Amino acid sequence: MHKNGTHYLNYIGGQWLDSDQLIEVFNPANEELIGTIACADEADVKRAVSAALKCVDSGVLSKPRPVERARMVHQIAEELRALMGYGVPLLVAENGKTTAEATQEFEVAIRYFEYYAGMADKIEGRSIPLGDDYVDFTYYEPVGISAQIVPWNYPLDICARSLAPALAAGNAVVIKSPELTPLSISCIALACERAGVPRGAVNILCGHGSVAGAALVADPNINQIVFTGSVSTGQSILHAAAENALPCVMELGGKSAAVVFADADLDTLITSVDWGIFFNAGQVCSAMSRLLVHEDIYEQVVGRVKALAEAQVMGDGAAPETTLTAVASKAQQTHILQLCQRAVAQGAELITGATTKPESKGYFIAPTVLANVAPDSEIFSTEVFGPVIAITAFKTEEQAYQLANATKFGLVAGVFTRDINTAMRASKALKAGQIFVNEWYAGGVETPFGGLKLSGFGREKGQEALYSYVNTKNVAIRVS
Ligand code: NAD
Repeated sequence: MHKNGTHYLNYIGGQWLDSDQLIEVFNPANEELIGTIACADEADVKRAVSAALKCVDSGVLSKPRPVERARMVHQIAEELRALMGYGVPLLVAENGKTTAEATQEFEVAIRYFEYYAGMADKIEGRSIPLGDDYVDFTYYEPVGISAQIVPWNYPLDICARSLAPALAAGNAVVIKSPELTPLSISCIALACERAGVPRGAVNILCGHGSVAGAALVADPNINQIVFTGSVSTGQSILHAAAENALPCVMELGGKSAAVVFADADLDTLITSVDWGIFFNAGQVCSAMSRLLVHEDIYEQVVGRVKALAEAQVMGDGAAPETTLTAVASKAQQTHILQLCQRAVAQGAELITGATTKPESKGYFIAPTVLANVAPDSEIFSTEVFGPVIAITAFKTEEQAYQLANATKFGLVAGVFTRDINTAMRASKALKAGQIFVNEWYAGGVETPFGGLKLSGFGREKGQEALYSYVNTKNVAIRVS
């Protein structure tokens, strides 16, 4: 997996391969170089796809009884668990997240393999009655080669989220890992190797998006694309997919709103705000980046969110006292500060934050609360991907839903109320793929996740996701 402890290799066709070029990986908390990884080019991508094709053509994944795949995928979970002691500090260092966050990410990644292992032998077709003269049935075949592109904010989690169901369904997979955080994903490749996954079934390589990523999605031998990342990259991948008429799962950005009614339990709300916008430094596609608050409790909520923000402890993810970590890169830090400055110029009230960490290295953004955010301002509808929350007051329930739905995104939304009727009305009125009631990030590996509008299409997680990795085949038999 690595050559000398700090130079990592790509995993292609069951081999650990180096390259002439490398990518440097820095710790965002202190800007120090922590390692390098071989940088895959177009030739490496071709090598990975042809290894995957060989694997598919051999039938080694698709021909045996599915229980064999179930056992293999379950073994990956076991091997990944055994690598946590090594992988958690690596994820902390490359992404900046806290040890608790990185541990949780590993646990979630392991859960994906456990969950989809349990489904590998339950992908069942159906029989369709056509009268006595026919027998008709469907079955599900693996799509072939699944090409998967992973972003930097949850490298392990998102890699496992698509790899586990794809493998469980009998596909070979080529994964392009993110340039900023490619090291800890090596643990998944190593877990696959140790679990005895056949050569070529899992290929994980890092390279630049515009080179390796673009080559992968344009390769004529892939059969499907699963992309998680920004809207603009997703759109360019969709153009490439159109060339070969490939099915895609697109998990893109968000600007998700929590609607807080006057009867909400505010202690519950504040716990959710803490998770929703400060966890992983707000670098979560489904972050609670907008808070829509009933006017009767508006001042009280702004005061409590300010206190929550000011209680955060910024620091290195490895330090136990840290609650808010650095963002991923200098470019992200600059982008976020500029968005905050423009928000204030457009009339938002800066309650706290919108600065860096004083006298410190690292790409920190102080926890930021913006209030009185106008619906026509940039910050109301633009994804920040950082620890920045935008608060807006509403008067009526109808107005709350109108504000919540007034962006081009539709990933998740939330409602905080003690009234089940209000919660049920909200869950229908809010336009998003997942609705949280009284707990942000409620749900889990078992619950389908994905967006509407510019947040993308297709579903990951849960049983739904499995059916993205198979083609339905119908067999219609005339009986004579
Ligand atoms: P990004 O789009 O810049 O990069 C994502 C991946 O795409 C990287 O691996 C990159 O190398 C690759 N890439 C870039 N150009 C490419 C190309 N032309 N062809 C193929 N691949 C290419 O996104 P990011 O900055 O890494 O991640 C942040 C974004 O991801 C945010 O918008 C966030 O909302 C989104 N995200 C969504 C989800 C979700 O599940 N919906 C989860 C996490 C992150």
